[in-house]
Amino acid sequence: MARVAFIGLGRMGHGMAGRYLDAGFTVTVWNRSMAKAEDLIARGAIWASSPEDAAIDADAVVTMVADDEASQQVWLGKDGAAANMKAGTLAIECSTVSHRHALEMARELNSRGLIYIDCPVTGLPSAAAEGKLTLLVGADAADLEKAQPYLAPLCSAIRHFGAVGTGTVFKLINNLLGAVQIASLAEGIAIAEQAGLDMNLVAEALATGAVASPQVIRHSKRMAARDFSGASFTAALRYKDAAYAVALAETLLPDVPVSRATVAAYDRARAHAPNGDEGEMIEIVSRPKR
Ligand code: NAP
Repeated sequence: MARVAFIGLGRMGHGMAGRYLDAGFTVTVWNRSMAKAEDLIARGAIWASSPEDAAIDADAVVTMVADDEASQQVWLGKDGAAANMKAGTLAIECSTVSHRHALEMARELNSRGLIYIDCPVTGLPSAAAEGKLTLLVGADAADLEKAQPYLAPLCSAIRHFGAVGTGTVFKLINNLLGAVQIASLAEGIAIAEQAGLDMNLVAEALATGAVASPQVIRHSKRMAARDFSGASFTAALRYKDAAYAVALAETLLPDVPVSRATVAAYDRARAHAPNGDEGEMIEIVSRPKR
């Protein structure tokens, strides 16, 4: 039976690791805090004492952690996954990392004989648990073919953008656009409140009108009601993605003023509530309710 090591059992990773169990893989798991692994262990996952321990016999190692720093730690830090992996093992990075980090990791892991698959994802934690993510892949075609059996349990679609790094380029553009939409929605909602409009009507009209992107549909009623229960994507992660996108943009364009303003807005939102929902951006721009 094929062996997968899964590292990072947060909102997304927990559901993704469960998909491998459901598909019959032998699954070894590691998370910085063990408590998040307990129900997976009850379902048959094998707990590893470190990323290195998880990866040592694996055919594929999949990581889903917060950011560049976490990715660096779990692959190359003390007892990192890459320390003792077999040559030819797939190293599948699903975390949203910076473009620079993806290229550096690919260089480093390839130099150790491993096959790096740049594989950020779109989809909420519910899609992760149901195997309905969209995978945004940057990899050689032959490497992607080798990785297919390990990607299939996670997703309903694979979009192959080209060589390593291109999946991350698209992911950062995608999440930057999401950040701009959510930040501008917060300002629109706040203006409507101050102008005394019927907020149920405003939320409904926004969510069904010409600006009704999935982000606007998802956030308009929640922002108007200040209902942030069940946070699935935090202000801190949204800031991180937008900041990585702007760092990439700086290598390609003379200026990106809207994107920069959005990063600054999310910097305030994450300071306000780092683990709060990204929709709490409304609290930054609105006046206290009268
Ligand atoms: P999360 O619930 O906050 O989980 C973050 C994971 O990273 C946890 O396993 C955490 O370990 C681990 N981690 C953080 N810092 C670490 C470090 N220094 N060393 C080792 N492990 C570390 O986040 P998430 O929502 O699952 O997101 C995970 C990744 O998926 C992020 O890159 C995010 O941008 C991306 N993503 C998220 C969504 C979404 O809707 N949530 C959608 C698409 C993509 P602990 O459990 O010990 O804290």
